[in-house]
Amino acid sequence: MGKFSAAFSVLWAVIWIQTGFGQSEDYRPQRFNSVFDGTTLRISLRHTGNAESESFHPEGFIIDGVWAGPQICLDTDLRLGDYRFVLTEGNTDRILYRGGFSSLLEEWRSTPEAQNTTKTIRETVRIPTPLKPGRLLLWKWNSPQDTLLDISINPNEVKTGTNSILPAIVRRLFVNGPPQKQIDLAILASGYALNRENKFNLQCEKLIGEMFAVSPFLRNRKYFSVRTVFPVVAPDSVSGHSLLGVSFGILGIERYLYSFRENLIRQYAAQVPYDFLIILVDSEKYGGGGIYNQYATAAANHPYSAFLLIHEFAHSFAGLADEYYQNAQYISGKYSGKIEPWERNLTILTEKTGIKWWKFIDPAATIPTPWRKAEYDSLGALLEYADISDQKSRLYKRRFEILHDSTLQSVTGLFEGAGYSSEGIYRPSLNCLMFSSGSGGFDKVCESAIDRKIRFFTGNCD
Ligand SMILES: [Zn+2]
Repeated sequence: MGKFSAAFSVLWAVIWIQTGFGQSEDYRPQRFNSVFDGTTLRISLRHTGNAESESFHPEGFIIDGVWAGPQICLDTDLRLGDYRFVLTEGNTDRILYRGGFSSLLEEWRSTPEAQNTTKTIRETVRIPTPLKPGRLLLWKWNSPQDTLLDISINPNEVKTGTNSILPAIVRRLFVNGPPQKQIDLAILASGYALNRENKFNLQCEKLIGEMFAVSPFLRNRKYFSVRTVFPVVAPDSVSGHSLLGVSFGILGIERYLYSFRENLIRQYAAQVPYDFLIILVDSEKYGGGGIYNQYATAAANHPYSAFLLIHEFAHSFAGLADEYYQNAQYISGKYSGKIEPWERNLTILTEKTGIKWWKFIDPAATIPTPWRKAEYDSLGALLEYADISDQKSRLYKRRFEILHDSTLQSVTGLFEGAGYSSEGIYRPSLNCLMFSSGSGGFDKVCESAIDRKIRFFTGNCD
């Protein structure tokens, strides 16, 4: 960089700071400190529901360490998540903080079991702690007129609840800057025997290394910091009752790995500053889970562990949806096909100009985009009944060939079959990392959704 451009950059930086160009005037860092106290307030919620109805009840307000999130643009968000909330100042409508999250209970509500059963699951909302009393209002993303929760937040009362320190070994995998300027990931160990801390550290290095070798994480690595938390407890087992309660078979889906011990998980995680949480499980069995703004899980010892970590993290970090539709079992009812999903990689719309990723669509692509779907579907049906491994591997090979059709590999279009539905829901590409483990990476649409989230967290709230 020459002298002139360096001087110009300094000048530009001064102008940028003075005008807050592109940002909300109210929430530059100095404003943050006059509204928030610099800690994170964890609100523990009980989410109760069945197929017909749902409700939220606050269970606890806990100071959860320093606020590691952005300090600007807090009154806006990316409008992601099944549920949205705002923190307002006092009894006014002035929004101090806005956010969203998705929910395991919401997934369960579309299962047949929810037709005649009611369940309660604990979920977490983390916000910067306000200096003065405020109100938290929460609603379902497509029903903003129906408030599901309306509670007072009194910082003087919540300060009595603080996480107790649980025995754990805390390490920095890499730290690229202060928490307020970085996207901070916490990786929590689950199911590791006490003497396997070294194994956990090596797996974190390997799997996180593979994640940051994939675009767009690769080019954005400098914006991330990663810390690990290894609970020092008696050995636990994933297959049985683990300390953190992480187990397979969630929602009756064997590969779905998640936990119901929300508060314990959060107590361990709070020992490091974090924005996003990953739980790495010492298991050789294939499995994982990821829910937007809750957390991601992945089995650490499977040949596809890196894929699992990246795929599940994309759910929990950027709110990307599953694009696959075969073998979806109980969650097949999550997207009705009647409401346009909020996720940036699913649509029910077939008019090119209405498609949320229209600007990425290849001008030459046919909309909807033909692919060998009928053949793929029939292979899926055969795979369900194939019990001889030779037969299975032949079917997998044919399916792999369909998903690696060279004429469609880099095409962004409108491919039918996504979001657990064979018909009526569309994905942007033939085979993205949100569709199958055999993909080369994220497609342009998923990559852009992740990029957008990274930009937002690093101060570019457009
Ligand atoms: Zn998924």
